[in-house]
Amino acid sequence: MPTPTGKPGPNTVGYNPMRWRRFWLLIFGLLLLNIVISSIIQSASTPASVTIPYNLFLDEVNGGNVVNITATGDSITGTTRSAVSPGAGQPSAKNFLTQRPSFASDNLETTLIKNNVSILAENPNPPTPLWETLLLWFGPTLLIVFGFIYLMRRSAAALGGGGSGGLLGRFGQSGARLYNAERPDTTFADVAGIDEVKAELVEIVDFLKTPEKYQRLGGTIPKGVLLIGAPGTGKTLLARAVAGEAGVPFFSISASEFIEAIVGVGAARVRDLFQKARAAAPAIVFIDELDAIGRSRSTGARLGGNEEQEQTLNQILTEMDGFDTHTGVIVLAATNRADVLDPALLRPGRFDRRVTVPFPDRRGRLEILRIHTRHIPLGPDVDLGLIASLSAGMVGADLRNLANEAALAAARRDANTVSQADFSDALEKVELGSERKLSLTQLDREKIAYHESGHALLGLLQPGADPVRRVSIIPRGQSLGATVQSPVDDRFSYGEDYLRGRITGALGGRAAEELVYGVVTTGAESDLRQVTVIARQMVVKWGMSPKVGVLSLADDEGPGQPLSFSRPYSEETAALIDEEVRRICEECLRQAVALLTSNRDKLDALVHALLEHDTLGETEILAVTGIAAPATVPAIPQPR
Ligand code: ADP
Ligand code: MG
Ligand code: ZN
Repeated sequence: MPTPTGKPGPNTVGYNPMRWRRFWLLIFGLLLLNIVISSIIQSASTPASVTIPYNLFLDEVNGGNVVNITATGDSITGTTRSAVSPGAGQPSAKNFLTQRPSFASDNLETTLIKNNVSILAENPNPPTPLWETLLLWFGPTLLIVFGFIYLMRRSAAALGGGGSGGLLGRFGQSGARLYNAERPDTTFADVAGIDEVKAELVEIVDFLKTPEKYQRLGGTIPKGVLLIGAPGTGKTLLARAVAGEAGVPFFSISASEFIEAIVGVGAARVRDLFQKARAAAPAIVFIDELDAIGRSRSTGARLGGNEEQEQTLNQILTEMDGFDTHTGVIVLAATNRADVLDPALLRPGRFDRRVTVPFPDRRGRLEILRIHTRHIPLGPDVDLGLIASLSAGMVGADLRNLANEAALAAARRDANTVSQADFSDALEKVELGSERKLSLTQLDREKIAYHESGHALLGLLQPGADPVRRVSIIPRGQSLGATVQSPVDDRFSYGEDYLRGRITGALGGRAAEELVYGVVTTGAESDLRQVTVIARQMVVKWGMSPKVGVLSLADDEGPGQPLSFSRPYSEETAALIDEEVRRICEECLRQAVALLTSNRDKLDALVHALLEHDTLGETEILAVTGIAAPATVPAIPQPR
């Protein structure tokens, strides 16, 4: 969204929306001219004529007023001796046009001959003119040829050669989109929940606004700031906000675009980008998805080597070395994989400042929700604080999506305001996917209900477990049902009891099936995977197995690491780990079955309610099972 500000310099370079506007204006103008000219030619060759009713035509023929006619199928044109008019007060002319009804059974031919009208007939389906045939034959070929020429020009422009003049050349250049140059109107007010990061960037803004203040004492401002964070945490947003706050031009490119580019294009673009940024200084250069080209050259992740990436990366390094901070250009870059970046990028004088953009915590999520619901009319029952605590693990982009889905859900039911229920629906949709229409037998539904109730009940019965927010047996995405538990507040460390509770809860579905039907289904697959992961980490990572002891035996995992085929421990230890993982899981399963057996009445009650209502909220679950509510969610203090 380039925002032309009318200022000279940065907004007239590179990708220029004005040029496209001119292009379309030109096309539009030509079309208009075409219409005007052709209508002039037509009116010159065909004298003015009027359309008259068929019976009036017959009257004129019988009155001897018609001189001649030309028939094309059933439509008739002709000339008269004295002017005719379709009615009083309407224009009259000596040329007329009329349509003979197909049901007419008058003996028109005889009438015409009797009245001395000369008759001319034309073929109603004239043969296609030669030029049309030619166009049909050669048109597509011509289009392809022109398209090809256009592309050639385009890549020539991207290579830095610039347009070689001429219409095609210039349009080609603008289409190459060397990069975006704009002045974003995003500010820090549009970014929420990541205050620590904002604080770090305030200094950058300050420098861009008043560079003299910093240069006076000979201090240097970082040349490059690397924003590291998971996708959707707001890195691009932050970079734009920095430019918006400082009121400087924002030159951005996405490194992932270079991957498919022609060799040499990337480096040329980078060179051009920095050149224009320097000319427009103070300015911000933003390189998005830096890891796409900045991958370490030693990881072997790029087998065969990618010449283009290497050249582009080298060009970025050269450019960053080539200017000092007095030029007032600051390079921001974003990545979600800092671990794979080439160390050369992280050397002093390049991206020497690294800022981690974290997942927002509960308060952060609340603030982000407030931003994205600013323009949505919220119903009185909407509790953004509750939604914030239900959405642990979501990032800014997810929350924006959530607010949007809720608004769409409300619009779908023709409501004027968005309600809490819309948000619950949206949350379920965002987390689990859209509802799926499956025709399930009553027995299947009952089995699913027992499975989910098993999870839910164990969540309720175990002290310290995350509160159960919702149970549903509506199939969504990959799952047939869902039990949503979410912590009262974001947790950063876990006790052993809590982890065992999680395992027991996750086994609740299987335990319930076993208890009620004596057989198990495949529905517990993902539950078991989750259980194994937690139990294994308890043993190898967190020292929660007395037999294995307080050792960290976790494999170094992660895609950035070279593959290792050796474990850092012996076969005996490996066997011991497996044994301990199994012991923990079995203990938890026994616990799950025991708890469900002694609370069978509550389990049945929950299943009964679920089969009736499909989905149960937190209060309904508590009411049905008669379990006392856990400690209430502490309210989030108002924003500082
Ligand atoms: P990233 O670049 O980290 O992948 P983006 O900056 O593209 O993420 O975020 C996508 C969208 O999500 C933003 O345009 C914004 O609407 C929303 N968003 C992300 N983080 C935040 C935040 N901290 N505050 C407000 N909105 C956010
Ligand atoms: Mg981004
Ligand atoms: Zn399950």
